[in-house]
Amino acid sequence: MNKRELFAMLPSVDEVLGQEKIEKLLNDYPRSLVLEGIREVIDVNRKKIVDIKDEKEAERFSLTMEMVVNDSIESVKRKYALSLKKVINGTGTVLHTNLGRSLISEKIKDELWTAASRYSNLEYDIEKGERGSRYVHLTETIKRLTGAEDVLVVNNNAAAVMLVLSTMAKGGEAIVSRGELVEVGGSFRIPSIMALSGADLVEIGATNKTHLKDYENAITENTKVLMKVHTSNYRILGFTESIGVSELVELGKKHDLPVIEDLGSGVFIDLSKYGLDYEPTVLDSINRGADIVTFSGDKMLGGAQAGIIVGKKKYISQMKKNQLTRALRVDKLTICALEATLRMYLDENTAVENIPTLKMITMQMDELEKKAEKLYEEIKELNLDADVHIEDCMSQVGGGSMPLETMKSKAIAITPNHMNVAALERKLRLSDAHIIARIYDNKYVLDVRTIFEDEFAEIKRELEKAFL
Ligand SMILES: *Cc1c(COP(=O)(O)O)cnc(C)c1O
Repeated sequence: MNKRELFAMLPSVDEVLGQEKIEKLLNDYPRSLVLEGIREVIDVNRKKIVDIKDEKEAERFSLTMEMVVNDSIESVKRKYALSLKKVINGTGTVLHTNLGRSLISEKIKDELWTAASRYSNLEYDIEKGERGSRYVHLTETIKRLTGAEDVLVVNNNAAAVMLVLSTMAKGGEAIVSRGELVEVGGSFRIPSIMALSGADLVEIGATNKTHLKDYENAITENTKVLMKVHTSNYRILGFTESIGVSELVELGKKHDLPVIEDLGSGVFIDLSKYGLDYEPTVLDSINRGADIVTFSGDKMLGGAQAGIIVGKKKYISQMKKNQLTRALRVDKLTICALEATLRMYLDENTAVENIPTLKMITMQMDELEKKAEKLYEEIKELNLDADVHIEDCMSQVGGGSMPLETMKSKAIAITPNHMNVAALERKLRLSDAHIIARIYDNKYVLDVRTIFEDEFAEIKRELEKAFL
């Protein structure tokens, strides 16, 4: 066939539009997208014909109306799909910043949907019949859980730190240990946030050691706050010394200076009972006398993205008046998700059982073994052209929390016999299920800790396709 004959095989847009399957597609998708999809498919095929170099290639070219229709349908569906979509987390990293950090409990989906789709008393006092405050919905529960006098919630913890410094240290100096000048997630750096807030940073001590006298010597008439930052994503080992909150508070009292602590991850329960390292809880910080404590809503707390500020009423009242608060305010979905998550903490077992982050972090070995066994059995049925077995692995908490904390876990390790392991990883990542996992030692490793059991069937289906 010559090129002219080949070009003649290309259908017109109208011909494709007239096909039954496309007419059906128009019931569910916008016409503009359907047209765009069809045009694209025709264009791709036109280019293919243009690129044909000889008779042999021309022979191989084939195009039917069915192919054009099916490709167009695929293209339209791809265009219409949301960009933000579900993935399967096979990495074992529980607070995976790239994969959405904390997961909100399914238990609260009705409350969340009602808050989203119906009017609410977001800023309305039902008792008095007048305007209210959006912050009251979280105040009582957080006060109860932390023992703090007052509470304010903003967009995230970075915003919380900025608001606190802008309110309490603007135009003055904030003293921070050099060993605590952390960078979190590439864009949040304590020194930069401090600069933005208008406070001058006074770094003290050496990288590995800071003594109480370093703080004391740095205090001048410009000092506004003493600040402590939890070094959530790294740790200095060896000869180290840092000053605890209690000692800072004592020093603060002596000089009439407030102490603020950025805890990073807000932990409400002592996780050492579940075999993890002890992390200071928010209650501990308050009990030790910190005037203001800030933490994230979606790290270890396991709720929605938010920055929670707790502490002395006199400072929180000033923050509420700061114009920044309006710019950093949380929306109703966040308030609803946080309130419903925090309520679960009133009973520790309920929290550990129902908050996905806590459940995954505290998952015990027998449960991980059972989960791995179940997934292994599913995959074994496929008789893949690969070596498949269960193996030990290490999961991480992640999210810049508990840097050294790894947890023994179980994984399914797959080594294809006739496929590159990187090619397998790519196929599964690009599949409809979007499986994200690690490659380790030439094995494709699925850590079962962060995989939900109702995702096993999807994994099985995609593995089967990947090996076809
Ligand atoms: C994670 C973290 C932050 C930033 O919190 P976001 O909620 O991500 O804004 C700030 N400080 C510390 C110590 C952290 O660990």
